[in-house]
Amino acid sequence: MGVLYILGAGCSKNYHQSKSNVPGVSPPLNGDFFKIAGKIIDHYDWASFFGSIIGLDHFVRDMNELFGYGNSETDTKVFDDDRLTLESVMNYFYARSKLIDYDSFSSPLFGGQHHRIRTLNELLAHVLVETMMGDNCELHRRLAGLCNRGDIVWNMNYDILMDNALFEAGKITESAYSMRFDYTLTHNSYHPTVDSASPVKIFKLHGSLNWVQCTICDRNLLLRDERFPIRLWKRIRDLSAECPKCGSGRYHGLERLIVPPAAAKEFDNVGIRYLWKAAFDTCKNVEKIVSIGFSFSPLDYELEMLLRSLVERHALSTKIPVTIVNPDGAGPASRFHSIFDKSKIIRVRSLASFVK
Ligand SMILES: [Zn+2]
Repeated sequence: MGVLYILGAGCSKNYHQSKSNVPGVSPPLNGDFFKIAGKIIDHYDWASFFGSIIGLDHFVRDMNELFGYGNSETDTKVFDDDRLTLESVMNYFYARSKLIDYDSFSSPLFGGQHHRIRTLNELLAHVLVETMMGDNCELHRRLAGLCNRGDIVWNMNYDILMDNALFEAGKITESAYSMRFDYTLTHNSYHPTVDSASPVKIFKLHGSLNWVQCTICDRNLLLRDERFPIRLWKRIRDLSAECPKCGSGRYHGLERLIVPPAAAKEFDNVGIRYLWKAAFDTCKNVEKIVSIGFSFSPLDYELEMLLRSLVERHALSTKIPVTIVNPDGAGPASRFHSIFDKSKIIRVRSLASFVK
């Protein structure tokens, strides 16, 4: 018997210990991602940014042209446009790469990944790291303290706030993710990933910034560093590790394991597909759901599919108690109620009061 924690982007918004020098930025949500990205790009010297995010100039030009802002490669005013959400832009580029320019913009060196998607993933990593690089989050630490053996975390976020808190508390092991990893990088050296029972299981259903795949030799790499969180954030931002098997680096072979929050989701990756199946199979004894900062985006339809399938298979009761931690919980409450119609739903306004 355990608790199922569901974490959405609103949960990461609680991080306030960032070391960022960029004024007015915080961990992004779907709706403010590009506004925050624009502030970060404008704050730093363009030359250094162009060096670290390949293709950013062409990406900015595409965005300007798509939304009617001319064709500048450096002006990021378009990023303030309210029409832009992370999901819609990811959707656009994934659909375009599958349906329009699949033959002209993909590089075999990057495992066939479309150039703009690679740039967007790099921008995503830079923005998440910029807004969350610092000491481990105090509120996530307390949340990890509440997790007991047998509990399950479904984490929809790419960032590693909860991972760091659970590793630090000794509540997860390298095999907690239900992903096949061949090597783990801790501190400065690799070791073959150890398969050992994890007290808490964490399913990162959209992938994770610290998961890397080598498209040259097909190894999966896990990046960790409990002692020096800032070094880990920098490493995942710069993808500064090399594949221990074949020596590939970020320009030739290494790729982030990120699932787009989009209709174009790539469930053809066998590791990610197994992850969803394992998340489904692990939920049989859950007695309570706690949903933190998760708001049922229309494009997160498959998470709702998981919950509904668990009800249909009688693995989750329609009476299961649900706690919603969200400053604006009315929307999520009615969505949970539509799945668990006999459930008693409790609403808590903030993560700080939930973990108090
Ligand atoms: Zn390799």
